[in-house]
Amino acid sequence: MSHFFPRYTELGEAYLVPQQPYQFEQAQVLLTNQALLTDLGLDLDQQQLKNYLAGLSQVNSIQPVAMAYCGHQFGHFNPQLGDGRAHLIASFTASDGLNYDMHLKGSGATVFSRGGDGLCALGPAIREYIMSQAMHALDVPTTHCLAVLSTGQHVMRQRQEPGAVVCRVARSHIRVGTFQLMAMNKDTAAMEQLVDLCIREHFSDITSSGEARIFDFFKHVCSKQCALILKWMQVGFIHGVMNTDNTLINGETIDYGPCAMMESFSFDAVFSSIDRQGRYAFGQQPNIASWNCGRLAESLMLLVDDKDAAVERFSEILSQFADDFNQGYQQMWIKKLGLLTWQESEQALLSELLSLMQQNKLDYTNTFAALTNSLHTNPLPSYTVPEVLSGWVAKWRERIGDPGEAHAIMQSVNPAIIPRNDMVEHFIAEFNQGDNSSAFTNWLNALKTPYLYQTYPAQWLATMSNEQAY
Ligand code: AMP
Ligand code: MG
Ligand code: MG
Repeated sequence: MSHFFPRYTELGEAYLVPQQPYQFEQAQVLLTNQALLTDLGLDLDQQQLKNYLAGLSQVNSIQPVAMAYCGHQFGHFNPQLGDGRAHLIASFTASDGLNYDMHLKGSGATVFSRGGDGLCALGPAIREYIMSQAMHALDVPTTHCLAVLSTGQHVMRQRQEPGAVVCRVARSHIRVGTFQLMAMNKDTAAMEQLVDLCIREHFSDITSSGEARIFDFFKHVCSKQCALILKWMQVGFIHGVMNTDNTLINGETIDYGPCAMMESFSFDAVFSSIDRQGRYAFGQQPNIASWNCGRLAESLMLLVDDKDAAVERFSEILSQFADDFNQGYQQMWIKKLGLLTWQESEQALLSELLSLMQQNKLDYTNTFAALTNSLHTNPLPSYTVPEVLSGWVAKWRERIGDPGEAHAIMQSVNPAIIPRNDMVEHFIAEFNQGDNSSAFTNWLNALKTPYLYQTYPAQWLATMSNEQAY
């Protein structure tokens, strides 16, 4: 029997507001992530899952809460955010011995809704279900989607759409924005508790005390963010809304809103239609992650006495972030190109490839998959290196060592299949019509082994026909 308990209660009522999820009497569980249930050793049957997601029963009599937080949204500070359409319904200890939160999204308005309806349309719920599973399989740290509930009611967006509730599972839901709220409230006691909680839950290797503990904590958060962004860049993920309220302290990807996998390569690629300045473009993501960590540092200033020394220390850690990122980034390209070392000349080789890719609008995933496949002793015909790269390929082939070895390295980092936006939209349209086809299950299954090179239906690998922001 799984052990469920409330968490965060020690943070106090300024940060958690008891809220009742809406009751959806006509709801049905549409999708269940069985692999996640198994991985976590979660002991829940379909009826329980439905009752919890539909707000029809509480988990172990635990009072659901909405969490309060602030956040910088597109660079502007918003002092009043919080779970406007979400409820934390329980935490539990999984079979890996770690604690996780169960969180509902689209489960009704809360005190933080600010005029929003508190609901979630089915389309975004399906997107979150697909993307979080694909990201997990791609080996990117992420929150998980346990299930999608169809509420049996409609929500009003541009038009009427079916409503849904997503059940998210995360190691925690503590955001940079949670710290920002405590800093705004000058609530030293709460922030100290929160640092303790984060260290206990996520960074238990920190053993220092006093102010050193604050800096160590910050350093750990930065390195998680650094690792996360490197993974995003490796697989071509564009988050789209890297606001500080969407930045988890534990370094998991959260909030699959207007996210997408980059297809035609460009560092300037943006998908979110609200991101008109390209603040969260593909190539901006490391800078933004560092900027978001800077907002955490500002908040943590509340806990240190010597402010001048702290500014210096935090700045050092942030510049370490930049150095670590640059080093990791180089490693990433070494692997993506199947090289063993990085020589000065490799920079020119990489730059030439990236400019050719950008000029010719080459697909990020397909290009690296084709290069990988080209080193196989028995290459598959469905992954072909574009003609425009032939001159470059000749130079590249001279640089790599043993092709077998290079192939193995490349295959471990260059996915063959990703959740392309056209496909995501295609299946969302099906779900909106009330269909749940076996084609969806087959595709989702393929996304679970993204580094497996095989002959997939051409449509699964095709670059987006319509590169519009949405
Ligand atoms: P996001 O940009 O998705 O991170 O959301 C920013 C804030 O808006 C969060 O506090 C959300 O809870 C809130 N929010 C988003 N959509 C809704 C909605 N339909 N109803 C109420 N609050 C919402
Ligand atoms: Mg959010
Ligand atoms: Mg969102």
